[in-house]
Amino acid sequence: MPLSPCKALRGQGYQFFSPESSAAVKPCLWCKKALKGGEQCYKHQFYGIESHRCVQMTPTLRCNHRCLFCWRSFEHEYPGERECTPEEILTGLHDLQKKALSGYKVSPYVTCERFSEALKPAHVAISLSGEPTLYSQLPALIDLLNSQGFTTFLVSNGTNPDVLAQCAPFQTYVSLPAPDEETYLSICRPAGDYWDEICRSLALLSTRRSAVRLTLVRGLNDHSPEKYAALFESSGASYIEIKGYMYLGYSRKRLRREHMPDHSHIREFAGRIAQYCDYRITDENTKSRVILLENVA
Ligand code: SF4
Repeated sequence: MPLSPCKALRGQGYQFFSPESSAAVKPCLWCKKALKGGEQCYKHQFYGIESHRCVQMTPTLRCNHRCLFCWRSFEHEYPGERECTPEEILTGLHDLQKKALSGYKVSPYVTCERFSEALKPAHVAISLSGEPTLYSQLPALIDLLNSQGFTTFLVSNGTNPDVLAQCAPFQTYVSLPAPDEETYLSICRPAGDYWDEICRSLALLSTRRSAVRLTLVRGLNDHSPEKYAALFESSGASYIEIKGYMYLGYSRKRLRREHMPDHSHIREFAGRIAQYCDYRITDENTKSRVILLENVA
């Protein structure tokens, strides 16, 4: 009998597409801030994505990593879950976003125009939690979302290059959590050793609009800038994002506040990487503690 998605996650704002599935939507902080006319997410600054029209979702919460820095709980697994079809997910997107944001309709800070725009999302970030390539219909889901005019962002841990190769989102992200295999195994504690698969996923990025995302954890993976530089360079990705680890959610049970780098540390490390490759710092957002690099060659 499949396990029902946990009440604890509902309490954290997760909205599930079906009681037997872990496919979920969760409006992020920036969506809510932007809805009230406040600041937008760094993706608006870097890529023009409007936060109040962005849906953060995942087709599954399952994952083959147990990253120390992950904000999710590893206790909330769904071994027998039923997969939602892409059509169910498409239908549910509008309904769940509406349900999640309904309380904002009466807020004095939310204009009618912004509220109705938020109910007609334009962007889908497949990046909530879990590894989306473990969902067997991911290429079809992305094709369906693209056909409906959504701008799609896919964030993957890179462990399934064969699935990633079949996916055609607007922008593909691959997370690179370490400069080498040894560090990867100690930080991500994967179900198997997927280092070669991650490298194969990075090799797919030069032919598409893409980004490599590094979550920098002070004292754990902020070393060997020359190795990161070589991996970034060989990927040929359009963008590199170096983002500081945030001491949030369940990661607080595994790491300490001191593991969270401040913005100057991230910037300095990004600068050291840039010394070894053709990527240069082109933008940054101090609030989100993220540095953007682009290839200038
Ligand atoms: S790959 Fe992502 S979802 Fe999976 S454990 Fe790591 S941070 Fe969490």
